Amino acid sequence: MINKSKISIIGAGMVGSTTAFALMLSGLSLDIALIDVDRKKAAGDALDMMHGSAFLPSSEIYAGDYADCGDSSIVIITAGARQKSGESRIDLLKRNNYIFRQIAGEILKNCPHQPIIIVVSNPVDILTYLTYELTGFSRNKVFGSGTLLDSSRFKYLLGKQMNIDPKSLHAYIIGEHGDSKVAAWSKTSIAGMRFAEYSDKRSGFDEAVADRIADEVKDAAYKVIEMKGATYYAIALSVRRIVECVLRDDRSVLPVSCVLKGEYGIENIALSLPSIVGKNGVEEILPVEYSEREMSKLISSADSLKKAYADLKS
Ligand code: NAD
Repeated sequence: MINKSKISIIGAGMVGSTTAFALMLSGLSLDIALIDVDRKKAAGDALDMMHGSAFLPSSEIYAGDYADCGDSSIVIITAGARQKSGESRIDLLKRNNYIFRQIAGEILKNCPHQPIIIVVSNPVDILTYLTYELTGFSRNKVFGSGTLLDSSRFKYLLGKQMNIDPKSLHAYIIGEHGDSKVAAWSKTSIAGMRFAEYSDKRSGFDEAVADRIADEVKDAAYKVIEMKGATYYAIALSVRRIVECVLRDDRSVLPVSCVLKGEYGIENIALSLPSIVGKNGVEEILPVEYSEREMSKLISSADSLKKAYADLKS
């Protein structure tokens, strides 16, 4: 039987263990299995977190194995190689392809009930599509953290520039969680005002600033990796937000990486678009009308992902 509050995290490295910690802080009272080829490290992380359990609502975190996925309602995949300084996310594909084939095999063997799978490992869009193909689960159940993190970075930078709480901004990065990501400026808004309408009235914001912010979002991960070798805090909070939406059926709009089946004429690949996330995973991909320029960038983003996926297959 499925345990609704049970989550398995495959890959207990920096991202996996920090995600477990963020979930522990969420107050959702979860049962979290950390599954890693390095079981000792997973057990050590679990123990370290459980030593703080006196300060928080009850959660159970432990080192597990693939059998734990069998009654989990959500399986989060954070296993695999991470970017080295100067390496792109696509560079990781060959290494993580092998790991994902192995993981998908284990999920198929252990999960007849088909849990929701959240892919986080990079390149997230391609690995999401690969997982969808390998498992054969429906597309609402297999999706990636996508550009939720990039959108959070976008809001942070915009908020800093405009001196507004990022939580009060509607701003989305769409497309690839990678170098071809697209800042959807035409749909950026504050209290219902289009961003351009608001910023026109303010000094200090012009096209050059907009380009600088979009570039900073694009380079954000490279910058952190160059400074400290990896990114994990903000992605852990992004995954926590997705998990909350599923477990509480929040139906929040999040830009997650979904398998497309003809939306905007794109198919056979996963990329991020604002979508309603609830108890069934991706409940709906919203049919937003982007500007002509954004649409053409989105199509190029899809084309570059398709090419990378085709290269992988061949
Ligand atoms: P890490 O090296 O710290 O951890 C990876 C873990 O995966 C290790 O503990 C390793 O033992 C484990 N692992 C490897 N093969 C495995 C297998 N077959 N089964 C189970 N576990 C296995 O790396 P990290 O910093 O935690 O990053 C993990 C992934 O997350 C990377 O691909 C990274 O690029 C990605 N990432 C994604 C985002 C995003 O926004 N989607 C953000 C940050 C990092």
